[in-house]
Amino acid sequence: MQTATRFYMAEGNARAEATLGLTLQALDGHLRRFESIPDLLADNDGVRLVLENPSDPAGRMALDQWLSQKNAQLDALDIYVMTPDGVTIAASNFDRADSFIGQNFSYRPYFQSALAGDTGRFFAIGTTSGVRGYYFASPVKDQAGGISGVIAVKIGLDLIEAEWRLQDAKIIVTDSEGIVFLSSDPTWLYKGLLPLTPDRLDRTLESRRYADVRPTALENTRSSDWGVNTITLPDAGGSRREYVVAGQLLPRADWTVQVLLDTRAVHAQARLSALALMLSLGALAAVVVVILQRRARLAERFALQEQGKAELERRVEARTADLARVNRLIEAEVAERRLTEAELRRTQSDLVQAGKLAALGQMSAALSHEINQPLAAARNYADSAAILIERGDAARAKDNIGQILSLIDRMAVIARHLRHVARKPDAPLKDINLTEAVVEALALVGPRLAGGRITVSLPDDLPLVRGGPVRLQQVLVNLLSNAADAVEGVGGAQIAVSADVVAGRVLLKVQDNGPGVPAAIADRIFDPFFTTKRVGSGLGLGLSISYNIMKDFGGDLRVANAPGGGAVFTVELNIARVRGKATE
Ligand code: ADP
Repeated sequence: MQTATRFYMAEGNARAEATLGLTLQALDGHLRRFESIPDLLADNDGVRLVLENPSDPAGRMALDQWLSQKNAQLDALDIYVMTPDGVTIAASNFDRADSFIGQNFSYRPYFQSALAGDTGRFFAIGTTSGVRGYYFASPVKDQAGGISGVIAVKIGLDLIEAEWRLQDAKIIVTDSEGIVFLSSDPTWLYKGLLPLTPDRLDRTLESRRYADVRPTALENTRSSDWGVNTITLPDAGGSRREYVVAGQLLPRADWTVQVLLDTRAVHAQARLSALALMLSLGALAAVVVVILQRRARLAERFALQEQGKAELERRVEARTADLARVNRLIEAEVAERRLTEAELRRTQSDLVQAGKLAALGQMSAALSHEINQPLAAARNYADSAAILIERGDAARAKDNIGQILSLIDRMAVIARHLRHVARKPDAPLKDINLTEAVVEALALVGPRLAGGRITVSLPDDLPLVRGGPVRLQQVLVNLLSNAADAVEGVGGAQIAVSADVVAGRVLLKVQDNGPGVPAAIADRIFDPFFTTKRVGSGLGLGLSISYNIMKDFGGDLRVANAPGGGAVFTVELNIARVRGKATE
């Protein structure tokens, strides 16, 4: 605040100085314009003539007119001519009631200066007119060069003063005694800034400079507290005001011109700038606080992020460790499983091997018996035949040879069976009439069922089925032979053959009332060489071959036990596609 005040005071002082410069220039210029006028006017015959013959009314009248004319041209207040004893004998204001004519101005310093041969200058209030003005005076010289009178020009300064009032700075002009005689503030007029000593007062009163106005003191305090000169003066209302003051002497008129600048504006500006400074500082502080807060927030966020990152890393590590553990477990499990699988495979292959050996064993047992037995029998018959031929019993020998031939036939049948097991079916399928196939099969097997009853119930509209006629017949013969074997020795033996169309297929059933198939062997009876019949009675190939034939047909062969006892074999066959219908 102090600094701001000092700054604005200095600035105010600079402004006051600038105004002062301009004011001095204007004032000086104004005075200079009129300075030489009295001299010029003095050098005039008319003036001289009137001073030589003051009683000549025509000359004075002419001079009055001329002065009046010049006064108007110069825009002066008054122009008048005085005799050496100070009496006015001609004046531009001759025709006015308050005319100077007849007035004596010998007490005026300007008159005295002019009479002494110098140019007189004086500011004063007109004693006659009461109008303030500046007086310039010059001596009028006669032909001989002596001073015959004085001519004076009074100019007004009211206009200049009026101009000053328009400015915000106050302007005062003091005379050599320190009395204010020009002022933009009328309250200060004719008041002394310097102490009014008796000397000063006497000099002023003597010159009647301010006519009948008696100057009073103008209370003022000067200081230079702020590094500039200030003056405190009372204003119109009586309250004291402080002004920054700049003053200078105007040598041409011995005046002191002072420019006063109210410090209230200066102080207000200082306060304003201090306030602005404080506001800016406040704003700066706010910005700093915001920046600091933001930094703190950023740091906080950063710390949180770091914390979050660390937490994440920790979790990732934990998770990775978990995964690694699980991985190890899985790996161990996989290894274990592989081991188990390998073991299983080994066991399986062992089993397969064992199965193969078992099958091979069964097969070799069956085959060796089936072949050895007829071979041994054939040998016996052959031995007997040789003896009978030696004995000449040709007829019995022939019987024996017949037996040998039938044994050979039996072995051929076995060989044919074996061929069936090994063969790869590639014969094309045909549309077969199932009823016909059943009838033919019954014709082949029928004689074996001497004591039993056989019932056949086949629907008339049974569709044709897909299959190989010879192979289907082989299947039917197998099933009927097995049924016949099963009911052998059973009282009231019965075999029933029936057929039905179920779900787009033909199901043919061969049911007997024999002992049925025990559950323990149900899934083995379709294996090759599996038989429960005594050695020599069955090869155990019938059902195995039949099963494979049905698979070749795209059909099926199943076994089940009938509710009332006995076995039920079901042959499942595809229905033949009717050509005509298929192309529709
Ligand atoms: P084989 O008749 O030469 O024994 P199969 O393959 O035809 O050979 O029959 C295998 C076995 O199935 C028979 O030994 C028998 O135990 C059983 N089997 C077949 N058909 C019947 C049936 N209708 N009733 C009871 N058991 C049967």
